[in-house]
Amino acid sequence: MPKISDLQRYLIALGSNQRHPRHGPPPLVLKAALAAMAGEGLTIEAASPIISSAPVGPSRRRYANAAARIATPLGPPALLALLQALETRFGRVRRGQRWGARTLDLDIVLWSGGLWHGKTLTIPHPHFRTRAFVLTPAAAVVSHWRDPTGTCTIRHLHTRLTRPRPVRRCGARRLHVGP
Ligand code: ATP
Ligand code: MG
Ligand code: MG
Repeated sequence: MPKISDLQRYLIALGSNQRHPRHGPPPLVLKAALAAMAGEGLTIEAASPIISSAPVGPSRRRYANAAARIATPLGPPALLALLQALETRFGRVRRGQRWGARTLDLDIVLWSGGLWHGKTLTIPHPHFRTRAFVLTPAAAVVSHWRDPTGTCTIRHLHTRLTRPRPVRRCGARRLHVGP
């Protein structure tokens, strides 16, 4: 058993907009994916409700999206490899078209270690701040986690993106003047 201090925590974004021949429609694909992640030894500490969202890019089918907070001793590259193997096991075919229809997408959004920049992996996920389909489920499971590139909490980023009214910038504090 790894020591608690060896455990890394991650926020994973799950998405599907294609049915799976055995698991069924996208929401059931996501449930099966969470079970498969646990079967691979990842500890699912919290899973958000599954939401339905409009497609991004060329595919016209709606998505099921969710987020999970997981714990694992794996570092970021090993976790990415495991998640990509699961995508393949769920029948995902990479056709070279970005954002095409897929049975399963598993993205690493945040990591307890903060930032990661590599050839095939960037953490935080570069687009998560502008995606309600990521921030809405994320706010359900890691509302107090912070964006490591700034001072915003996930809850704040979510509110800023989804509320029509302007919301105070995070990190902007009033100066304390006088006694
Ligand atoms: P998007 O990344 O805009 O959500 P996508 O999830 O459809 O698009 P994929 O085809 O799943 O994109 O992944 C393309 C590549 O992105 C992967 O081969 C992977 O190496 C790379 N990648 C970079 N950063 C991440 C990350 N944080 N999580 C998952 N994949 C990442
Ligand atoms: Mg994605
Ligand atoms: Mg992806």
